[in-house]
Amino acid sequence: MTMQKAEKIWFDGDLVPWDQATVHVAAHALHYGSSVFEGIRAYALPEGPAIFRLEEHIDRLLTSCKIYKMDMPYTRQEIRQAILETIRVNGHRACYIRPVVFRGCDTFSVVGYTCPVHTSIITIEMGQYLGPEAVQKGVDVGVSSWNRMAPNTYPAAAKVGGQYINSQLIAMEAADRGYAEGIALNVNGFVSEGSGENIFLVQDGRLLTPSLGSSILNGITRKSVVTLAEEMGLEVCEEFIPREVLYLADEIFFCGTAAEITPIRSVDGIVIGAGERGPITTQLMDAFFDIVQGRALDRYGWLTPVAA
Ligand code: PMP
Repeated sequence: MTMQKAEKIWFDGDLVPWDQATVHVAAHALHYGSSVFEGIRAYALPEGPAIFRLEEHIDRLLTSCKIYKMDMPYTRQEIRQAILETIRVNGHRACYIRPVVFRGCDTFSVVGYTCPVHTSIITIEMGQYLGPEAVQKGVDVGVSSWNRMAPNTYPAAAKVGGQYINSQLIAMEAADRGYAEGIALNVNGFVSEGSGENIFLVQDGRLLTPSLGSSILNGITRKSVVTLAEEMGLEVCEEFIPREVLYLADEIFFCGTAAEITPIRSVDGIVIGAGERGPITTQLMDAFFDIVQGRALDRYGWLTPVAA
């Protein structure tokens, strides 16, 4: 999926042409993964684009900066304004928004405190991450031979560039095996998450999802799914999930900003439930898409309109 260039990128306070938003090859982040980032979606509502859970994404960006001791020189308000401005100037109706904060060029020392901290906001057009058929029929996935990181290696709560080398191993292996995505276990053998998605299982009418102690990113779509499930009166359990529980689930789905809610129809070649999108997954997808596509009231205040 090659990205479609937008006209402008916000880079350290200026809106610059896409091709001019470049970085030096000695940048610390390029060598040591010292970049923190977010992935956010703006949806096309009839009255214009609206950003899904913008404040929560800015919160997580600031959390990642705090953990990695990166002094981003912009306030929350400035970042919010910059995101809105970038979408407006590029004339997107809907888009994927990628803020990135990274250590630039000063030293090859692993301690990058002296490197300038750069901030950029990139926007691109994006459709369904795992393909349009995936949302309807579900995807075939496999449990990865790569684990998620142990909690004392690097912190799962931070969305940091370097961490995505683990995601790359999981996703590349899945692609090479012919799967749409991989499911990683944590170092204790419990289900963790996909390379870029959280995971939910339906078992006997209950919703199960790995707890924050299972080396997962604290996903914003995950939180939204929990809210919608509770609204429907479903019991939601956050727990340690052994691998075989995947095979025995009635339904499984991924969720994340890019993947939105994507059903899983098989794991390791074992058919899940009826081998198609299940009824509870469908109910949750309907509730989610009704809000982000403007068919239902934004009753949780999840959407920020881009129009001034
Ligand atoms: N886990 C990982 C590893 C991710 O990269 C993402 C995508 N940000 C998610 C889960 C889902 O998080 P969110 O719903 O906040 O996009």
